Amino acid sequence: MRKQVIAGNWKMNKTHREAEDFIQTAKNEVPSSDKVESVVCAPFPFLQKLVEETEGTSLKIGAQNMHFEESGAFTGEVSPVMLKELGVTYVVLGHSERREVFNETDEDINKKVHAAFKHGLTPIICVGETLDQREADQTMNHVESQVKKALEGLTNEQCADVIIAYEPIWAIGTGRTATAEQANEVCAHIRETVSNYVNADAADAVRIQYGGSVKPANVDEMLSQSDIDGALVGGASLEADSFLKLVEAGK
Ligand code: PGA
Repeated sequence: MRKQVIAGNWKMNKTHREAEDFIQTAKNEVPSSDKVESVVCAPFPFLQKLVEETEGTSLKIGAQNMHFEESGAFTGEVSPVMLKELGVTYVVLGHSERREVFNETDEDINKKVHAAFKHGLTPIICVGETLDQREADQTMNHVESQVKKALEGLTNEQCADVIIAYEPIWAIGTGRTATAEQANEVCAHIRETVSNYVNADAADAVRIQYGGSVKPANVDEMLSQSDIDGALVGGASLEADSFLKLVEAGK
């Protein structure tokens, strides 16, 4: 049985005070970590404080991006070593906003996935198609290619340990959710891709999240699908009450 993982992606939101209030409300209310993995992926400036405040609780902290190099002349970047030192456990990689707004390539994302494993961080790798690609019937090919490129060169064990977030770009922040069947169809295809590209054990173990306008009202239906093992949630993860409803559904 794969354990569900519910991850909030705050994106570039919240003040320090708001982040603090959220964590104080949520940290002791999340279900025990043997039932569901609960993660908040916060902006860099909040990470240290959030890690300290959630120590000993079932709420884990993730970053939303990082560089693949360990150090050097990369003004404005944050390294995997720095994240590890802070006690961060997850890192979102290749979010569509990073790919589209910051021109991240599949190759960059593959390097970041390798760097995450090297430093003991669990990567949440985002993949997903645009509306044009969906309408042109390219969804499966596109997502399959993104998954293979992200996993290139990893060991079979590492492939089993990644978390893949299927996020159709047309459903992110738009209120337009994929139907549970549409989401599950692509997640099943991702699992089949892992099976063919790696092996059946890795495909069986890998967790695949759905993301894109997930909220308390639709999370149960998503999580009840055969190939969906959790959710990556933007807007509906910003309020502690709403986030707690989502992790409750993941139990
Ligand atoms: P959303 O964002 O839940 O606000 O659609 C999801 C994401 O971008 O990870």
